[in-house]
Amino acid sequence: MNALRGFLRAQRLGRRAVSLLHRFQSTLVIAEHANETLTPITLNTITAAKRLGGEVSCLVAGTNCEKVAQELSKVPGVSKVLFAQHDAYKGLLAEELTPLILEIQKQFSCTHICAGASAFGKNLLPRVAAKLDVAPISDIIEIKSPDTFVRTIYAGNALCTVKCDEKIKVLSVRGTSFEAAPASGGNAAIEKISAPAPVGQSEWIEQKLTKSDRPELTSAKVVVSGGRGLKSGDNFKLLYDLADQLHAAVGASRAAVDAGFVPNDMQVGQTGKIVAPELYIAVGISGAIQHLAGMKDSKTIVAINKDPEAPIFQVADYGIVADLFKVVPELTATLKK
Ligand SMILES: Cc1cc2nc3c(=O)[nH]c(=O)nc-3n(C[C@H](O)[C@H](O)[C@H](O)COP(=O)(O)OP(=O)(O)OC[C@H]3O[C@@H](n4cnc5c(N)ncnc54)[C@H](O)[C@@H]3O)c2cc1C
Repeated sequence: MNALRGFLRAQRLGRRAVSLLHRFQSTLVIAEHANETLTPITLNTITAAKRLGGEVSCLVAGTNCEKVAQELSKVPGVSKVLFAQHDAYKGLLAEELTPLILEIQKQFSCTHICAGASAFGKNLLPRVAAKLDVAPISDIIEIKSPDTFVRTIYAGNALCTVKCDEKIKVLSVRGTSFEAAPASGGNAAIEKISAPAPVGQSEWIEQKLTKSDRPELTSAKVVVSGGRGLKSGDNFKLLYDLADQLHAAVGASRAAVDAGFVPNDMQVGQTGKIVAPELYIAVGISGAIQHLAGMKDSKTIVAINKDPEAPIFQVADYGIVADLFKVVPELTATLKK
């Protein structure tokens, strides 16, 4: 009888331990960086990770990224920085990073793995999820609970609340939906992780980056964007002059990119970048649904368009129906005063 009671008690304790283990959340944030510099979206992702509850670790993998690891160790709320440096991580290829993440997952059994929903995160996370045999959730804008997330569908025209029952939740995070975590005040330990053997399936050859002194588009406080109405690449100079007065980043519609006015990394919208600055000035942009998907969460929207029927006026807080070639130089001149 005593043996039976003991057995039942042990079973109850076992169950409690398992359920405690289940409740213990731990999140791995994959840091995005360019070796020397941390990409700002990582800080927004850390804020999202903190909302999940539980411990937050950051993985910094690269070829020369010690500075970024140091930087992340100072972010409050990060309890540990996992640091992996190897030549195989040149170009941060998903084929090379995935085995490293799987190895870390084996060691630390995280309940959540996340990264910013940038080109880097979008490239890497679904591959990791496939290897873990779980369905990932992309571009989340809200965390309701550790297993329930909100994301947009149909180019931002519907909100979809998803409950995820996967054993490991793999999430990409919309940077503009979460504040950036503060950059100082924390004191996390940096732990070296040895890199698994290189896969060698793909090779990073080179990159051609658009050089600019202006703030980065997705984290700028002010964005001035131009569309087909600008008529040529040379005319974008009008927007650069205005942007300089406002310390703004310059964006574009797909029509402006397709016409060759500006490079495609400036595209705002469903297939471009998602921005949510304090102020978005749309110049010569009609406001197609696919463009609105990338900017309609901006705090204040200003439209400059000569067509009063342009859909952009339906989301604009302030609008001027006028010729941009007149209004933009006037605005720049006024700001210079
Ligand atoms: C699958 C898919 C994905 C897409 N993804 C994106 C995306 O990510 N981003 C994006 O932007 N688009 C995207 N598009 C394209 C989108 O549908 C539109 O074609 C595009 O946004 C139009 O760009 P626009 O507003 O510059 O050009 P237009 O629609 O041609 O508008 C130009 C505007 O300029 C105004 N204008 C002209 N001259 C002047 C002047 N002198 N002064 C003032 N105003 C003037 C006109 O009145 C007009 O409203 C996508 C489309 C598809 C099908």
